[in-house]
Amino acid sequence: MNVPDHSNKGSDHARAEAGPGDFIREIVAEDLRTGNHGGQVVTRFPPEPNGYLHIGHAKSICLNFGIASENGGRCHLRFDDTNPVKEEVEYVESIMRDIRWLGFDWGKHLYHASDYFERLYEYAAQLIRGGKAYVDSLSTEEIREYRGTLTMRGKESPFRARPLEENLDLFERMRRGEFPDGAHVLRAKIDMASPNLNMRDPVLYRIRHVAHQRTGDIWCIYPMYDFAHCLSDSIEGITHSICTLEFEDHRPLYDWILDALPVAHHPRQIEFARLNLSHTVLSKRKLLELVEGGCVSGWDDPRMPTLSGLRRRGYTPEAIRDFCDRIGVAKTDSQVESALLEHCLRNDLNKRASRVMAVLRPLRVVIENYPEGRAEELEAVNNPEDQSMGTRKVSFSRILYIERDDFREHPPKKYHRLAPGSEVRLRYGYLITCTGFSKDERTGEVMELRCTYDPSTRGGHAPDGRKVKGTIHWLSASHAIEAEVRLYGHLFTKPNPGEADDGADYKTCLNPSSCEKPGGCFVEPGMAGASPGARFQFERLGYFCVDPDSTPGHLVFNQSVALRDTWGKIEKAQR
Ligand code: ATP
Ligand code: MG
Repeated sequence: MNVPDHSNKGSDHARAEAGPGDFIREIVAEDLRTGNHGGQVVTRFPPEPNGYLHIGHAKSICLNFGIASENGGRCHLRFDDTNPVKEEVEYVESIMRDIRWLGFDWGKHLYHASDYFERLYEYAAQLIRGGKAYVDSLSTEEIREYRGTLTMRGKESPFRARPLEENLDLFERMRRGEFPDGAHVLRAKIDMASPNLNMRDPVLYRIRHVAHQRTGDIWCIYPMYDFAHCLSDSIEGITHSICTLEFEDHRPLYDWILDALPVAHHPRQIEFARLNLSHTVLSKRKLLELVEGGCVSGWDDPRMPTLSGLRRRGYTPEAIRDFCDRIGVAKTDSQVESALLEHCLRNDLNKRASRVMAVLRPLRVVIENYPEGRAEELEAVNNPEDQSMGTRKVSFSRILYIERDDFREHPPKKYHRLAPGSEVRLRYGYLITCTGFSKDERTGEVMELRCTYDPSTRGGHAPDGRKVKGTIHWLSASHAIEAEVRLYGHLFTKPNPGEADDGADYKTCLNPSSCEKPGGCFVEPGMAGASPGARFQFERLGYFCVDPDSTPGHLVFNQSVALRDTWGKIEKAQR
């Protein structure tokens, strides 16, 4: 497969160079060969239910579910619900919906870290009994201070030497709710001088008097991610725990905890580069800020990089999976051009979307030699890429709409569309010649074109073989129906809003014209009954999809992607 180099910054497409597999698939294959993990492949996708899934998560989902299914294994969906403050049922439901929509299925393997709270507590008590954990009573600030820095070693807490029995007693009373938030924490007893900050007696449990969406008020102490994650993996018999690079420095802790306890399974943690996509942000925290700040209409705003936003925009699961396939998996961070994602959508929709004509900024055209009151039906092809999609009829009559942009009073060189005296082909219609136009005296705006049609050119072919370069789309004014059309641009003006060079907040480069609603748009009457989610190619304009805001009397379309393929161009130039 020839995968284009879509970035000169990193090697996220290293997979393409290495062949059909990637370094993670190679590790899994090797483990299967040597019989590590009992010849099994069990992966998991572990979202925290504190937001909606985005395209970065899709990369992880495709990877985890993909590797499991390629190897006859299984992939669990586990909600990493250890922080009750930020987690909500709405997120849990959206995550399940989005994974299914993307085309993956966890079967009966749905789990929650909170399912394991009792076992995790027991494991923590075991660490205490083994002298490997202690209750610390320093304040949060003191703990931070004692931790030291990258260049300065940490200092041991005065509570580190607490007798075992006292630790057990305090931990039990923490659980019983005898102490307020922050009074104590449970810490692993590792090494305050470790060069790895994660190993400087990391906190395992903290007190939080907060109700949990699943366990209610049963618990007032909650395990930290690093403690809960490795043990949840182990409890479920995960063989390969695949996560993003920022957890590389946590791996020694992952392994330390599992080595310190008599667990049956010790999964292997493997890190890969997270997806960064140009002109957007992929962080649930930032996406939540956009939603809460009213910068977008919601998590499923069609401009959002969330799976629900992409779905509403008209993305197909196939296009997203193709994208995840092409970007591959690598160990170095890089940024992928959003043009590649758009390219994948265009590729997919080109095959499946019906062509129709729509006029977004209408200009009235009177065909002077076409009889008033007459109309005829012309045959139009639904998809030239797929003859099986058949044909449809489009109505032609004396008054038409064409795109304002398809007429110029003073045409520049190589302008092959309409201008005074010029001839153009109406798609599936006739050749017409512009004989005149009227203007609003005050504004200078062109109000109406006068044209004549050549009756011998039905279907768009001149019997005398004369050349007409331009072909434009059009609608019969009396047949067309009105529709609301929403055109989208990038959410951010900068390719890298996540890390503005000047240190400015990412929201300062929000694109003010990322959503345009031209108003007064028309589409073919045959689309009147189109249901939300239906996808079309508006000829010469792009791919569009019916928005859920649509009602039978009021069609609303989202622009999915424009036709111009900037990615295809880059690809061609590289060949
Ligand atoms: P965010 O930074 O958006 O809050 P997160 O990593 O905190 O993301 P989780 O819900 O913990 O979100 O993620 C679930 C899984 O998805 C994790 O294994 C995580 O590594 C992976 N993941 C998250 N973001 C990306 C990304 N941009 N690219 C690839 N994988 C990702
Ligand atoms: Mg996370």
